[in-house]
Order: sequence, then structure tokens, then C-alpha cells
Amino acid sequence: ASGYQLLRDPHYNKGLAFTEKERDAHFLRGLLPPGVVPQEIQERNERLFYKLLIANVEELLPVVYTPTVGEACQKYGSIFRQPQGLFISLKEKGRILEVLKNWPEKKIQVIVVTDGERILGLGDLGCQGMGIPVGKLSLYSALGGIRPSACLPVTIDVGTNNEQLLQDEFYIGLRRRRATGQEYSELLHEFMSAVKQNYGEKVLIQFEDFANHNAFDLLAKYGTSHLVFNDDIQGTASVVLAGLIAALKLVGGTLAEHRFLFLGAGEAGTGIAELIALEISKQTGAPLEETRKKIWLVDSKGLIVRSRMESLQHFKRPWAHEHDPISNLADAVKSIKPTVLIGSSGAGRTFTKEIVEDMSSFNEKPIILSLSNPTSQSECTAEEAYKWSEGRCIFASGSPFAPVEYDGKVYPSGQANNAYIFPGFGLGLIISGAIRVHDDMLLAASEALAEQVTQENLEDGLIYPPLSNIRKISAQIAARVAEKAYKLGLATRLPQPKNLLKHAESCMYSPNYHEVCIEFRSIGQNQVSVV
Ligand code: NAP
Ligand code: MN
Repeated sequence: ASGYQLLRDPHYNKGLAFTEKERDAHFLRGLLPPGVVPQEIQERNERLFYKLLIANVEELLPVVYTPTVGEACQKYGSIFRQPQGLFISLKEKGRILEVLKNWPEKKIQVIVVTDGERILGLGDLGCQGMGIPVGKLSLYSALGGIRPSACLPVTIDVGTNNEQLLQDEFYIGLRRRRATGQEYSELLHEFMSAVKQNYGEKVLIQFEDFANHNAFDLLAKYGTSHLVFNDDIQGTASVVLAGLIAALKLVGGTLAEHRFLFLGAGEAGTGIAELIALEISKQTGAPLEETRKKIWLVDSKGLIVRSRMESLQHFKRPWAHEHDPISNLADAVKSIKPTVLIGSSGAGRTFTKEIVEDMSSFNEKPIILSLSNPTSQSECTAEEAYKWSEGRCIFASGSPFAPVEYDGKVYPSGQANNAYIFPGFGLGLIISGAIRVHDDMLLAASEALAEQVTQENLEDGLIYPPLSNIRKISAQIAARVAEKAYKLGLATRLPQPKNLLKHAESCMYSPNYHEVCIEFRSIGQNQVSVV
């Protein structure tokens, strides 16, 4: 039965690539057709998946990630075949440590966890949000070179407020409305404690697609005791800052000389705003309270201004500057006259023709970023941005768009997506054995990414390097993040390697097959070891 099990374990299966020797050693005779076929030309298993993904990143990213991952989450119940990741629900309260021990891998380096409340711009998808941690972690391996077996996707199910799912007979999660308050925070606290107890201090916990009323609090609460990173707040901030640093080479001036306006004042919007303000403050020596004044945000109620202070959620308050109330983005654009317009609202088609034309009337080269995902929620399409700005805007979007032809010229449009940052960022934390995340590491990652944009990319109007080089880019980011960790005294892997870039590269997982040698006794008891 051992050979039979081996063939059904996607982690170890090599299909027809098992050699004659391996077929004899592992009781595979008769279970496979006699042909031996190399990895390059055969079908599906884990290493093959990663080999394919790495070799075709640009083409396959939209399939394993945005926009397809959004659709996969929406249909998760009806397409459910084999469970992936770990589901921790209110039913497991008091037993979370036990649940972690059910996971077959013991050496975990990265956990991506969601509670499914704000999946992309698609809202509350409850337990079906599992597609996100699974998708993000496959990028950790493919783009950042973290071993797949060291990655643990987790979905915390505290219920859902999505009525459609609650009525859906195929819904896979708890059929109750979301737990809040103490019931919620107790479950999360048990999870966070169990993770540290089971995997130690150096396991990276990435929060993903939590609603903002929990996301900021969780990050603040566990930031001092755990290695935590919120991708929507911090990863997005780092990737956007990188794009802006690169864009300055096209539009001129320093960050401090620009004016920023956001549509959306949630995790992404205020996270990006704060990192820009921090970078300007580092560059000019001006205090944060001053540098924040160059940045304006609009939420569902209009421009965030001083007179709204009392009713604002705490993360919006630093952005409540003195200004007359304005109820919508179009009027805010006219009044603020930003040089940079960033969409982070999750609401699609909100950058109208009027808005893009206005941006183009007071800027020679307006910078316009439509960050919202998936494609249906993008603030405008690449085609609209280039057409309405008469080819003058510098544009990038959260989900990919095909190149646009306008007035006889082709504009390849770039993707402003945190996938550029988090895999390399996580790798940097891991290779240095970092125990805490620090804002300076985010700035270091931004600089490293911006440096990867070539003159040729800029000439094409691109403010991000092509994704086809992403593994090289991830290694560069990892080296810089690790360097910062050592400088800040937050690294524990000592001594510090002399050449961090070489070290990062040498630590990266590669999906090529190697000879399988397995202890058969332990198959099924989760202790399979490949030597
Ligand atoms: P969030 O915390 O829920 O924030 C959404 C913000 O947008 C809130 O301030 C909300 O206003 C505002 N908003 C919603 N609809 C609006 C409308 N029609 N007009 C004006 N403001 C509106 O969400 P988030 O985490 O920031 O994510 C937002 C979007 O960014 C999502 O689509 C997500 O997929 C995308 N995102 C992209 C990346 C990337 O790498 N490209 C990374 C992270 C997130 P109220 O506060 O008044 O409700
Ligand atoms: Mn996210």
C-alpha cells in the first residue's frame, strides 16, 4: 500500500518521472505504466506546479492569484474537492494547539491567516476565504522561494454576515453570524498564543484580508509580541512607495514636492499614506504631523477633514486636515489638485473620465494608481487611463491589464500589487531569523524594489520591473530586509552572512526533482522524510 499512497501524495509524487530504481525501492511496480518520462513533459504534483508557475509567472499569476483567486473564493463551496490548509472555527475553541498538531508538517516558517471578512474587494466570504491564504502562500514559494512544506494557510471561521452564503446549501463554513467583541478576540488570542507555543518566535504570521475594524487592532496588539505582518496595510504600502520612488524619475521632484489624494481610507489607503509620510519625514527631517499634510483621503462620506474628527475611526484621524467639507472624489480632485491619485476603495469604476481629465489638466504626467482588486473593482481600466489622459498618465493597477494601444503607441501597463513585496520580505525575515517587523524594513523593501526598475522600463512608462524577474527581485528585497533586521538588532541567525544577497539566493526553494528516499514505516503518520 505504500507505493500506492506515495502516488497519491502531491507533495512526493513524481508520476512517470519515478526512475526504475525508485520504482523497485518504493513498491511502485505495476502501479505506473512502464514509461519513464521526465518532469518537463508530464502532469501534476507539487514540484511540477511550482516549476510551471516559476517558468511562466507573468502568464500564470492571474490564475493562481488576482483575479481568478477571487472567483475561486466565491465558488469555493461548489468546487471544493480536497481540503487545503487548516480551518480553525469557534468549534475548536480551547483546542487550537491540538488542531495545529494535526497538521502534517512540523517545521512551519510562514502562516498566512484570514478570517474571510474582506476578501479582495469582494466583501465577506466567510470560510471560503481560504483561497486567499492558499494563493498567497503559493506565491511565497514560487516568487519568494519559501519551501512549500514550511507554509501553512489558515482560515479562522467565526461565522459570516454574508446572507447569500448562509442560505447556500454548499456553504462549507459555520452557519452563524460573525462573532465580535470578546468572543472574537478570545479565539484570535488563543490562535496567536498556540502558534507561538507550537512554532516558536520566528514563525511569520501574515494577516490577510481581515476587515479594517479588526486588522489595525490585531497588528498593533501582536506587533510587540509576535513576528506579524499585515499585507493589506504594510505590504501594499511598501509596493506603492516603491512605484512612487521609481515614478519620480519620470515626473521629477522629490516625494515632498508632490500632493497625494486617495479614494479609500481603509487598510490599503491609510497604510500607504502613512509610509509615504514616514519616507518624506526621513528625507526632509520634518515631523510626521507636518508631512502627513501633503496627503488627503476620501472615504465613502467624502473628503476626510477636521470637522469630521469626532465620528472618524481612529486610523483615519491623522488625516483629518483643515478644509471645507467635500462630499465626493470629483470635487476633491478639483480642490486638492493632486499630482498622485490612488484608488484603494474596493469600489470599481470610480475614476471617471472627468476625474482623469482633470488630473491631466493640472499635471503634465499625472500618476494614477487603481489598486482595487479583482479586475471588476479596478477604479479604471488601463485603456481608460491612457485614453482619457491622452497617453500622458503614469498608470499601474492591482490586477493585470493587457497592454493598451493609443494613438499608434503601445503602453504596457504595470501591476501595483503587493505580490512584488511580500514573498521577498518574508524571505528576508526568515533568513535573518527576525523576531519583529519594523517600518524601516518596509522602507528598505521599497528602495530595493524601486532600484530594480531599469531605464528601459521607465522609457516604457513602467514604474515596476517585469514580473518575469520576480525571483531575482525577491532575493534583492530579502537581502535588504535582512540587512535592516541585523542593523536593528532584530535578527537572531548569527553570525550575519557576509553576502546577504548570495545567502538569500542560496536559501530559495527550487522545484526540480531530486531522488526520492522515504521511510515507509512512517507514511500515514505524517513523518515522511525525504533525504
Ligand atoms: P478597507 O479597509 O475596507 O477600506 C476601504 C475604504 O474604501 C474605506 O475607507 C471605505 O470607506 C472606502 N470606500 C468604499 N467604497 C467607497 C466608495 N464607493 N466611495 C468612496 N470610498 C469608498 O479595504 P482595504 O483593505 O483598504 O482594501 C481596499 C481595496 O484595495 C480592495 O479592493 C483590495 O483588493 C485592494 N487592495 C489592493 C492591493 C494591491 O496590492 N493592489 C493590496 C491591498 C488591497 P468607509 O471607511 O467610509 O467605509
Ligand atoms: Mn489582501
